[in-house]
Amino acid sequence: MQIVKDNGPITGEHIADRLKLTRATLRPDLAILTMAGYLDARPRVGYFYTGKTGAQLLTENLNKIYVREYQSMPVVVNESISVYDAIVTVFLEDVGTLYVVDEHSHLVGVLSRKDLLRASIGKQELSALPVNIIMTRMPNITYCEKDDLLIEVAKKLIDKQIDSMPVVKSTDQGLEVTGRITKTNITKAFVALVEGEL
Ligand code: ADP
Repeated sequence: MQIVKDNGPITGEHIADRLKLTRATLRPDLAILTMAGYLDARPRVGYFYTGKTGAQLLTENLNKIYVREYQSMPVVVNESISVYDAIVTVFLEDVGTLYVVDEHSHLVGVLSRKDLLRASIGKQELSALPVNIIMTRMPNITYCEKDDLLIEVAKKLIDKQIDSMPVVKSTDQGLEVTGRITKTNITKAFVALVEGEL
């Protein structure tokens, strides 16, 4: 990078000469630096230094990650099921949040672990209490779409102090739940970014 910084644009051949290496030995390293955005290459001109810092490159890459690449399967329940059955579903499906839909499969509510715990410390009969009494309901649900940027979703999760949000497809009749984004999905994207798997 120093050689390119001082002498760019410079051909791969000339960089190799200075390092007393063959062009073939150097090729993978130059490819990595170019892919990572530190260097740029122009045919017949050579390599030059882009001047971008690690933080700038990280931002550029973050702005290329979309919900559709990291979303997972939503776990959806009907609004008429009982709190008892919702708790069983949380264990069976191994998720923290359930999305509640009406008879037309449109999003009507969200049930978090704490919502279910809160209902459980009351004196109600849990198998007779429908989830639509205790859920967070529309229009107070924060949701996203598959073509949204993951970083925007991450900001919303922090801002609203929630663990997840449904990914929806908007139709004339209502919102269809097609996926979910949780803090785990965002952590996975964060790790992939550092490991250069994007
Ligand atoms: P927990 O309560 O288990 O810590 P959350 O922090 O996700 O989980 O939920 C906090 C509260 O916010 C709950 O009452 C829940 O119903 C509500 N909530 C969770 N996700 C959303 C969402 N996407 N939109 C609106 N409200 C939500």
